[in-house]
Amino acid sequence: MDAVQKSFHELLAARGIELAPHQLSQFERYFELLVEWNERMNLTGITERDAVFEKHFYDSLSLAFYMDLSKARNLADIGSGAGFPSIPLKIAFPHLQITIVDSLNKRISFLQHVCDALGLENVQCVHGRAEDVGRIPAHRDQYEVVTARAVARLAGLGELCLPFAAKDGVFAAMKGANPQEELDEAAYALKELRAKAERVETLKLPFEQSERAIVFIRKTDRTPAAYPRKAGIPLKQPLVRGISLVKKPR
Ligand code: SAM
Repeated sequence: MDAVQKSFHELLAARGIELAPHQLSQFERYFELLVEWNERMNLTGITERDAVFEKHFYDSLSLAFYMDLSKARNLADIGSGAGFPSIPLKIAFPHLQITIVDSLNKRISFLQHVCDALGLENVQCVHGRAEDVGRIPAHRDQYEVVTARAVARLAGLGELCLPFAAKDGVFAAMKGANPQEELDEAAYALKELRAKAERVETLKLPFEQSERAIVFIRKTDRTPAAYPRKAGIPLKQPLVRGISLVKKPR
């Protein structure tokens, strides 16, 4: 184990995540593939090994500091890009059934390759817009945990992600510092989408010290049939106070 792996291992162990040697090897292989494929396609601006371990791998795993993923059955990652946060979570919690959704097919091909190379089973990589995939019965109202990192502001993001969550499931939005303004802006959207914000957890990355926040949102009922709206609309015209598309019972 070199210094990067040693500190990664120790920092995670301090948070209750014990990585075995073969899991550390999977992270190493993932890093190599990320850098290799990044030369051919735009996957990440971060390529220094220590920075990838901190800003992508550790940051992705921080979700598990605040919820017990060892008890979760399935997880959907919306707008996963190069695989964050779902691939690090799958490596650390191999029992999870993962669904990855991204609208860029090249990234889905990369992720399929990563899963094959790392021997990750039960990862479904779906090419499509979340607005469309979230209407497919096999994915709608199905997931115990739904997450997204660095995809969009919460008001629009909720409409992309919440349709995937089961009733009583959790949508964990991984954000930078100070998400309060976004949360206020999303109040109407969350109500429309039958969800409520439960808590916000904050952390600092261990070396770079930049702040992160994870907003935990509980799905309180099934998604109304009106949502998500047509692909493109949720982010262009986020649900911020206006006319409800859901018919009120008389
Ligand atoms: N979650 C990754 C991370 O934290 O590094 C990637 C973030 S990247 C900025 C946003 C990703 O969301 C892109 O890969 C993009 O293709 C995807 N995306 C954007 N809109 C989407 C949509 N409507 N449905 C599915 N994926 C979408």
